[in-house]
Amino acid sequence: MEKRFIYADNAATTAVSEEVLAAMLPYFREGYGNASSIYKLGRDAQRAVEDARDKVAQALGADPREIFFTSCGSEADNWAIKGTAELMAKKGKKHIITSVFEHHAVLHTTQYLEKHGFEVTYVPISDKGLVDPEDIRRAIREDTALVTIMYANNEIGTIQPIDEIAAICHEKGVLFHTDAVQAVGHVDIDVHRQGIDMLSLSGHKIHAQKGIGALYVRKGIALPNLIHGGGQERGRRAGTENVPAVVGLGVAIETATRNIAEKNAKIIPLRNKLIDGILKLPYTRLNGDRDKRLAGNLNISIEGIEGESLLLMLDMNGICASSGSACTSGSLDPSHVLLALGLKHEVAHGSMRLSIEENITEEDVDYILEVVPKVVGRLREMSPVWEKMMKGEKYE
Ligand code: PLP
Repeated sequence: MEKRFIYADNAATTAVSEEVLAAMLPYFREGYGNASSIYKLGRDAQRAVEDARDKVAQALGADPREIFFTSCGSEADNWAIKGTAELMAKKGKKHIITSVFEHHAVLHTTQYLEKHGFEVTYVPISDKGLVDPEDIRRAIREDTALVTIMYANNEIGTIQPIDEIAAICHEKGVLFHTDAVQAVGHVDIDVHRQGIDMLSLSGHKIHAQKGIGALYVRKGIALPNLIHGGGQERGRRAGTENVPAVVGLGVAIETATRNIAEKNAKIIPLRNKLIDGILKLPYTRLNGDRDKRLAGNLNISIEGIEGESLLLMLDMNGICASSGSACTSGSLDPSHVLLALGLKHEVAHGSMRLSIEENITEEDVDYILEVVPKVVGRLREMSPVWEKMMKGEKYE
């Protein structure tokens, strides 16, 4: 078996595409003007920013005036949540609803707000990794300021019932924000039709560069600034525009949202082949609903091994994978997402996420399906936990 290099961690980040890079390059040198300057060099930069804003709006079914560029997805989440908290606190509303398995950009923001007088309800997820909209309905109170539920989970890829949750929020007169960092470019989104009030996205998950994101804010929501200073982003978010990054995001989102159904039709059979192949190993389970998940995501727990050891051995075989979100790897705690599914600590520890895109080939899939069982077999041979499991002894 010839060694291959397979990047199967697109949920962590993606490479900047050729067309994104080509669109960005002129704005580093020839088109370096400050988008606030009134001479032509500045006006050209301004036009490029507005063109990118149009593209982002178009991709989301929004109005360009509803799109605000940010430095990343985390900033967009922080802005939506802290901004709404500030806005609604003035009306005496200091309760926020979110779920237990959000990204830390959301969870750490709500935890910060809890320290500053807000109350937060964390709704559970089912064993399939789905939020029940009725849990949201039950949690909404007179003083609820915001509901924030992610569109698709970054670790297990499950796609949430966003339309139903948005409808409940509207019925109850509560604002609804969704962290769609993992969903944009993989599911069709139309914020107006779906009744989404605010949506966060990030460029580096869709082949733009790292450090660029956007927040959609429905017209009429007077979200306070997160960054004070100049009048950029119509006075709502200060800071000289990162023109190349913004231009790149425009091209990236246009490309990513162009043929979603076609791309997914190509990826899903290969993803399913990977799932079925890996699940042939004993003591394995797929985490998250099999169908209501991102086309390119699979997350499997493999008992009797440590996720980190598996990742290192996959890396030695040229395969880039992940055992949790990129932000939490490096920490020894098992993923909060997998624990929320009800997995035991030792099972959550032995988990692997592959996130693939349409450039993956049948040969790549066959290679992964050759490597994973071999590596798992070797790790289990060395594992005291596996030995105890096989003898039917208790293990921790
Ligand atoms: N939200 C989700 C669901 C994510 O997966 C990520 C990145 O992993 C973020 C937010 C943060 O995005 P960024 O890396 O652009 O700050």
